[in-house]
Amino acid sequence: MRKVLICMAITLFAAAVSGCKKNAAEGDFQWTVEVFDDVRVLRYQVPGFDELSLDDKLFTYYMAEAALCGRDIIFDQNCRLNLPVRRTLEAIYTGYEGDKTTEQWLAFEKYLKKVWFANGIHHHYSMDKFVPEFTEEYYDGLLAAVPAAVSEQADEVRRAIFDPSFMAVRVNQTEGQDLLATSAMNYYEGVTQAEAEAFYAAMGDPNDPTPPSYGLNSKLVKENGELVEKVWKVGGMYSPAIENIVGWLEKAAAVANPTQKKTVEHLIAYYRSGDLRDFDRYNILWVADTVSNTDFVNGFTENYGDPIGIKSSWESVVNFKNVEATKRTEIISDNAQWFEDHSPIADAFKKEEVKGVTAKVITAAMLGGDCYPATPIGINLPNADWIRAQHGSKSVTIENITYAYSEGAKGNGFAEEFVLRESDRELMKKWGSIADNLHTDMHECLGHGSGKLAPGVRGDELRNYGSVLEETRADLFALYFMGDPKMVELGLMETLDVAWAEYYKFMLNGLMTQLMRVQLGKNIEESHMRDRALIANWCYEHGKADKVVERMTDNGKTYFVINDNEKLRALFGQLLTEVQRIKSEGDYEACRELVETYAIKVDHALHAEVLERNERLGIPPYSGFVNPVYALVLNDAGEPTDVTLTYTEGFAEQMLRYSKDYSFLPSKN
Ligand code: ZN
Repeated sequence: MRKVLICMAITLFAAAVSGCKKNAAEGDFQWTVEVFDDVRVLRYQVPGFDELSLDDKLFTYYMAEAALCGRDIIFDQNCRLNLPVRRTLEAIYTGYEGDKTTEQWLAFEKYLKKVWFANGIHHHYSMDKFVPEFTEEYYDGLLAAVPAAVSEQADEVRRAIFDPSFMAVRVNQTEGQDLLATSAMNYYEGVTQAEAEAFYAAMGDPNDPTPPSYGLNSKLVKENGELVEKVWKVGGMYSPAIENIVGWLEKAAAVANPTQKKTVEHLIAYYRSGDLRDFDRYNILWVADTVSNTDFVNGFTENYGDPIGIKSSWESVVNFKNVEATKRTEIISDNAQWFEDHSPIADAFKKEEVKGVTAKVITAAMLGGDCYPATPIGINLPNADWIRAQHGSKSVTIENITYAYSEGAKGNGFAEEFVLRESDRELMKKWGSIADNLHTDMHECLGHGSGKLAPGVRGDELRNYGSVLEETRADLFALYFMGDPKMVELGLMETLDVAWAEYYKFMLNGLMTQLMRVQLGKNIEESHMRDRALIANWCYEHGKADKVVERMTDNGKTYFVINDNEKLRALFGQLLTEVQRIKSEGDYEACRELVETYAIKVDHALHAEVLERNERLGIPPYSGFVNPVYALVLNDAGEPTDVTLTYTEGFAEQMLRYSKDYSFLPSKN
């Protein structure tokens, strides 16, 4: 997985300790902006920004402006009616002068907030279309009261909002159906899945060792019976937005260091040409730059929004290095060989020479496109396999975002509800945040890179179970070593209590609380969730005789407690040995058995109980962020002398401002 999504546990537990530097006004900081539907909107801080050099501040500012200029693109990519729907709703929202206290109005307002949060009319995670809780008659009344909201696409806009069968799902993954015809995303028009697949299969030379990511930056349409790519570039599709992005990139290049200047100039060249070889040249420079203090993602990047995984959504994250926290990942990387040598796996599957992935911890300064408002906590790019193999990849943990998640979760009652013992609650409160960060670092820097395949094994033998097993392996590696005294010796943790906090949280999440994200009656589908369930269930079963992890009932509620952390660590090691053997030998049967037994099925009664208890707590399962507001300080000559930032903008306020100041595309593209 290239994008590391927030694990449920992190959003739910409050943690008092973190590597994050604190701002002066910490005590009064308003982490939660607002809650609506199933979403909590948070605010994140940008600690360390004031200490950046003026050039770094200006670079960040210009890149941040570029990050906001692509917002219309992601709306249009998600569904061709998203822009006209958003504009209609916003015109009503700002122009209506009637009663804004009625239930119908509040339902209308909630719907608009959901559209803003999801960058369109479909849920950002489930992909299902939102169901309005206001009536069509009420909507008609609003339109009559605000004539400016009526556009030439009014009929389709109405259908998009009120007809549940029209554009019902953004990305359909049901096997056996035409995934393009049944998905509402806007990457193809008038093209069948078979046609699109054949079109791209025929492209390029199969023996090309450096193949471009064909189709990544265009919409595929049928014109006069011919398949045509509408390329997203200056002078092509989405040109008005891309021209603005390029304008800010030029300003950023002017204040960048020589290395970064070259990188940004290649990105500009690619936006101008639309040539995917230019995109590769840019990526190679980008991945090689590990020294610049500031960094960014800006462009058509991830393909999760295309049911056949060819087209990429536009996104941006502007950031700078968290020097203090990066020391932590450097210690881990520098000791990669020690960990490999001491791993419990069979010697035959150990790497003689292991290279730790260079990972850094970053502070996000601006989120845009597909990374806003819902945000990943880690990113690993670029995606092209041959670039990763020949030039490497950059892996980042976005620590000010995870910190905001845990601060925003403070006092939500989750620990009191699901953690039986006061001592466990204390442990997690004290060490939960640092434990999470270390787990992520170990998983990313070492876990995925450890071990090797047996001779003759290609690596694709595990097929549909491959990604679950791989995530399981990386998590087990992290869990096993977190409980090693070496961690304290290396200065990565003060005490092994950090590990025990992680053990508790991991088991609770895998055995029980992650089920909050699964609909009653359904199985566990997502790879990371399956991996956690696999580990937790296997260890629970295999430690049953010794009561290593015990299931208890108190006041009619189910709890899990860990009675012996050392024995649990030994179980992690035992399972890691087997999981590595399965991967190294490509043992499909054993893999299938393991995943099917422990990772997928859900205990229905426990599932219902978890949903019911969470419902009572009222914790929204999804979170996202508003951005800070940056401003240039100019001297009398009009030259920038500083960049300031403020954290007071509200959610609706920010959305309306972005729609006013950063909206460059027509409603029909
Ligand atoms: Zn992973």
